[in-house]
Amino acid sequence: MTNGSTELIFAADLGGTHLRAATIDERGKIHFRSKQNTPQGTDPNKIVSAIISAVREYQNEVGAAWNRLKGVSLVVPGTVNVKDGTVVKAPNLPCLDGFPLTSALTDELGLPAILENDANAAAVGEMWQGAARGCRTIICVTLGTGVGGGIILEGELWRGVDGAAAEIGHMCVDPFGGVACTCGSRGCLEVFASATAIVRMTREASPRYPASVLHASNDLTAESIFAAGLQGDELALEIFGRMGVYLGIGLANLINILNPEMIVIAGGVVNGWDLFEKHMMHQVEERAFPLLAARVKIVRAKCGDDAGLLGAARLAISNR
Ligand SMILES: [Zn+2]
Repeated sequence: MTNGSTELIFAADLGGTHLRAATIDERGKIHFRSKQNTPQGTDPNKIVSAIISAVREYQNEVGAAWNRLKGVSLVVPGTVNVKDGTVVKAPNLPCLDGFPLTSALTDELGLPAILENDANAAAVGEMWQGAARGCRTIICVTLGTGVGGGIILEGELWRGVDGAAAEIGHMCVDPFGGVACTCGSRGCLEVFASATAIVRMTREASPRYPASVLHASNDLTAESIFAAGLQGDELALEIFGRMGVYLGIGLANLINILNPEMIVIAGGVVNGWDLFEKHMMHQVEERAFPLLAARVKIVRAKCGDDAGLLGAARLAISNR
């Protein structure tokens, strides 16, 4: 344990499946951790109770030292109103739509609380403690179940006028016959570069590859497809190649618009980096302005699952 004077933020990352929490100090060191299933259903108060029970668990563990907690910072998978602490829309946790999450927590805990979109928090976490340390203008693209984005310009998160900016996953990269997306549009980057997309594209292409080892798999995941690719499976190689092409087109657009120092690629799909990198980079070289393409570093994230928690803590610390 550290000395008793360190001030801590209680950061909680509310995923569609898991609620992960940690106490984090101002140097980015993680102390206590907890993980539980995210309560499902229609009652937002169950989510509030779950977060409070994680705080109580921490308080029980450290006893009187719990008064080092100076605030609570939440990461939510959806659009949030940072100013009033309300969740605007969370597609995977619809019970939170319109819910004043931070005031519910402050009432119960007597601590200030803030909230942030998950991909925005991940961008802040990577700039504070991860791949983008020392940078000022970056884009973070999170390739998970969906595709999220965070844009930091001159050290400040760009949230847009309504707090919904940086929906990088919903940039159109295929206008012709593009696959339908959960957002209501078609041909979004998310339907070609997410873990969900990799599984769907593999199923669609599998009849053309009768010899693929993936035919024997009952439980296709992006991870199992990546593993097959590393063994040279041609179906898996084609899918990661296509995914890399679409991702590279999206990145080239972002590079030409924002001229970032760095693009950090995060999320579970980044495990497939060795299979998609050259395809992604080829598109960037083909499509982005040469000066901007030469300037930008495109790298893997370093904070893993902790990026959102770290970013949440950083935002709470700079908010104080
Ligand atoms: Zn979309």
